[in-house]
Amino acid sequence: MTTHKIAVIAGDGIGQEVVPAALECLERIARLHSLDLQFTHFDWGSDYYLRHGRMMPEDGLEQLARHEAIFLGAVGSPQVSDAESLWGLLIPIRREFQQYINVRPVKTLDGVKSPLASKEPIDILIVRENNEGEYSEIGGRIYRGQPHESAVQETIFTRLGVSRAAHYAASQASSRGRRLTSATKSNGIIHTMPFWDEIVEEAVRLYPEVTLTSELVDALAAHLVLKPWTYDVIVASNLLGDILSDLGSAVTGSIGVAPSANLNPEGDFPSLFEPVHGSAPDIAGMGLANPVGQMWSGAMMLEHLGHPEAASHLQTAFESVLREGLGTRDVGGTSSTSEFTAAVLATIDAID
Ligand code: ATP
Ligand code: MG
Repeated sequence: MTTHKIAVIAGDGIGQEVVPAALECLERIARLHSLDLQFTHFDWGSDYYLRHGRMMPEDGLEQLARHEAIFLGAVGSPQVSDAESLWGLLIPIRREFQQYINVRPVKTLDGVKSPLASKEPIDILIVRENNEGEYSEIGGRIYRGQPHESAVQETIFTRLGVSRAAHYAASQASSRGRRLTSATKSNGIIHTMPFWDEIVEEAVRLYPEVTLTSELVDALAAHLVLKPWTYDVIVASNLLGDILSDLGSAVTGSIGVAPSANLNPEGDFPSLFEPVHGSAPDIAGMGLANPVGQMWSGAMMLEHLGHPEAASHLQTAFESVLREGLGTRDVGGTSSTSEFTAAVLATIDAID
């Protein structure tokens, strides 16, 4: 029996509802596939912040380092600033564990209606550089309150950072539709973006089977709305990737079904798996949350841990429940979180 130590941070709001739902499914899958998933729960997040003045304890990263993966719900609360929750937990985790890739599958599912008129199936993998780029602390503000008050923030692209993101994206494209689109803005951003373009091109040359297209991000955003089914893998910098992947989850239907992974592809450090959505305080505690984004993130975690069959078992189960027409309110259904989860558990058993 293979053992995996997994750190669980359910976090805030609906994280407390969708994480237990996904864990029930993961436990059922583990039993059927002879996996020993050992979950350790950490009560970190905004409530912890309100009690202790920080999102996680001082040795939080050390505690997490003892695990192979981190399964996160959501952090964020109306009482805690977004910057506090991002820089107090997620960004330190991404950096400490060199989770330099953020992957977000953007895929239409039967039973989840896309707001687009066309019924063409969409299946895109968005690969976002996760450690550098536009998200840097380098900069500052001067002449506060004066007419010439100014702010500067530097973007940092490193050869290592860009090339490893490009390599990861190209290798994914190679095993999918063999088309890779790189998001750029080198007509306007004349130092860092041409550097990005150059290194992406250099890296992708090692994958002759992959066709690379560089596309200006403004046009790419429009095309993601007008004809998203024409894309296969998209690679983008930290900021551009963040925007494109939110757009992607919007065109496929509900934000409640979209998963993501913050990967350290080499497996030297734990990777983190979390749904795209946040803590959704507007529906927290009401049993309305869609658990699919969390379940799908769990399937990605199983895949990353080396169990593709277990991953696809879970994936097939929630996809077929959605296809049968069951769903939470956000996808047009009437099921509660627990009713939907019960249906997925039954389907897991049925397709064993
Ligand atoms: P945060 O600050 O934590 O990111 P947010 O309010 O900015 O929270 P989300 O939590 O992603 O952003 O919520 C955006 C909208 O989508 C809300 O109206 C929320 O109710 C809805 N939503 C998000 N996730 C789900 C889900 N899993 N099921 C149903 N609705 C959801
Ligand atoms: Mg948000």
